[in-house]
Amino acid sequence: MKIHEYQAKEILGKGGVVVPEGGVARTPEEARAVATRLGRKVVVKAQVHAGGRGKAGGIKVVSTPQEAEEAAKALLGTTLVTFQTGPEGAPVNSVLVEEAIDVKRELYLGLVIDGAAQGVVVMASAAGGMEIEEVAEKTPELLLREKVDPVLGLLPFQGRKIAFGLVIGPKLVRPLSTMIANLYQVFLDNDCSLVEINPLVVTADGRILAADAKMDFEDDAFFRHPDLEYLRDTSQEDPLELRAREADVSYVKLDGTVGCLVNGAGLAMATLDVIGESGARPANFLDVGGGANEEKVAEALRIILSDPNVDTVLINIFGGILRGDMIAAGILAAVEGTEHQDRRIVVRMLGTNADQGRQMLQASSLNVSLVEDLGDVAEAIRASN
Ligand code: GDP
Ligand code: MN
Repeated sequence: MKIHEYQAKEILGKGGVVVPEGGVARTPEEARAVATRLGRKVVVKAQVHAGGRGKAGGIKVVSTPQEAEEAAKALLGTTLVTFQTGPEGAPVNSVLVEEAIDVKRELYLGLVIDGAAQGVVVMASAAGGMEIEEVAEKTPELLLREKVDPVLGLLPFQGRKIAFGLVIGPKLVRPLSTMIANLYQVFLDNDCSLVEINPLVVTADGRILAADAKMDFEDDAFFRHPDLEYLRDTSQEDPLELRAREADVSYVKLDGTVGCLVNGAGLAMATLDVIGESGARPANFLDVGGGANEEKVAEALRIILSDPNVDTVLINIFGGILRGDMIAAGILAAVEGTEHQDRRIVVRMLGTNADQGRQMLQASSLNVSLVEDLGDVAEAIRASN
């Protein structure tokens, strides 16, 4: 789960990571009040669950409370489109007003769970402000990496090694290694999957602080943190993904045209490959899960069909607890008599009551192609396009 920069900074601040002084505002008047309280030059920053705000005009440096109010007025209520939000953008419902920093150097510092390293990796780079993916690609020698042993934890020498590697000067080695240690503790305490400080700023007066903060919680561990639930901002989520979460269906929107409904994550991955083989592109990943029922199949199919890019739906289900007749009933409930009545649906089902399910679909008025073998699925999709 992603959260806003101002929320991440609150958590980091409590964990002993130095962040700029500031406050969140939901109206231009509130922004003015925060700027007045700070009593100096401030930055007004659009709060959306995406980076790239600077280049998109979502960050404004201003000198007076009056200007802070105007900057907030210009941002609040708009939709900010950055290279990370996609063309639909994200709504700006709040802004962070904080002290402007006199930037001398911009560095990058990030903690991430690295599957290959089987643990947390601390990454740092002297090329801050830039996208880290770009640094890794173009100048990999500028990317410092320290793998954290999950049993030993982050060791003090590792923080120092990064500090020396960034060549920030002897005075800042201790503050930076302390910051890295605190960041790692926050990461652990909150079951994060990512914490990214970009840029980590060295100021003209020799301080080091987190000018930006991105924090992502591991969804599978989130049940351990009911106290963090209030941080969720559903206005920033894809509406279909949100609806899928409410239906307890694993759904990830993709950009192709073949919607797919599958039970089991492994089968769903294999199904995406089969769609790729056919020369088409999947519109989504969707796993209804093992214990699905008729209503869940119907809701999953409605979610798939709500994506305007979908022209064909592929349903690939291996029935066990989820019986063939339930699947067919779910499909009929979602499609029959709706505007999607004529949509091409390719169905492969095996297992308990599969024959019964196939008969129900064949007897219906839906535009269904039944296939037996996974190899025939690619052919059926090709034929429908
Ligand atoms: P992002 O573009 O969404 O990642 O937002 P950031 O918070 O990283 O801000 C983008 C850029 O704005 C930073 O890389 C800085 O160059 C600049 N910036 C942000 N805050 C300040 C500030 O307080 N003072 C100055 N001078 N620049 C800032
Ligand atoms: Mn940033």
